[in-house]
Amino acid sequence: MPLRRDAVSDPLLIELPQPCLVVLIGAAGAGKSTLAARHFAPSEILSSDAFRAMVSGDESDQRATRSAFAILHRQLAKRLAAGRTAVVDATNVTPYARRTLLRVAAPFGVPGVAIVLDLDPELVLARNAGRVGRVVPEAAVRHQLDHLRRALAPGRLEGEGFDAIHMLTTAGDLDRLVISRRPLPQ
Ligand code: ATP
Ligand code: MG
Repeated sequence: MPLRRDAVSDPLLIELPQPCLVVLIGAAGAGKSTLAARHFAPSEILSSDAFRAMVSGDESDQRATRSAFAILHRQLAKRLAAGRTAVVDATNVTPYARRTLLRVAAPFGVPGVAIVLDLDPELVLARNAGRVGRVVPEAAVRHQLDHLRRALAPGRLEGEGFDAIHMLTTAGDLDRLVISRRPLPQ
């Protein structure tokens, strides 16, 4: 009997050039850190929360944001200089945040790949609210969702200089995601 292909469980494939800069984009609660932990090695992930915790002992301490990003950008440059892939796990919903990352990466000539978690806002708010430990205030998440909406207006994100933009729009997309890696031609 022929195998039935089930559309729901078909993998959703993202092919990443190696090395590259991966910029995760999505509001708090969208699932960026979960995606990063599933698909990337810990040493590849540069997380704004982790650097906030390093600076202040508290990953949600917004006063540590400036220092945390200064460290993140420095580490990003070092990783890319070493020819290693780096994944930036931060909301990256503002044009400024994305522009800064692409600017840091530019001297190293590695492709910039955006992975956008554009899920139903209600799901994002529910996942944020239902989290164990750190829950981001709902107003802040709504603000991030507004930024994301603007970024996804026609032509906006496409005009920012990413080499590839991958959209994940449902919980199913997150769960059937498969990431493969392809060495860059020398
Ligand atoms: P923040 O920007 O605040 O760090 P985040 O985008 O990193 O948020 P996560 O911490 O990865 O979000 O996920 C938020 C919540 O949603 C967590 O409780 C997580 O367990 C849940 N979640 C994330 N991805 C999935 C998934 N694919 N299936 C089920 N639950 C998920
Ligand atoms: Mg996170």
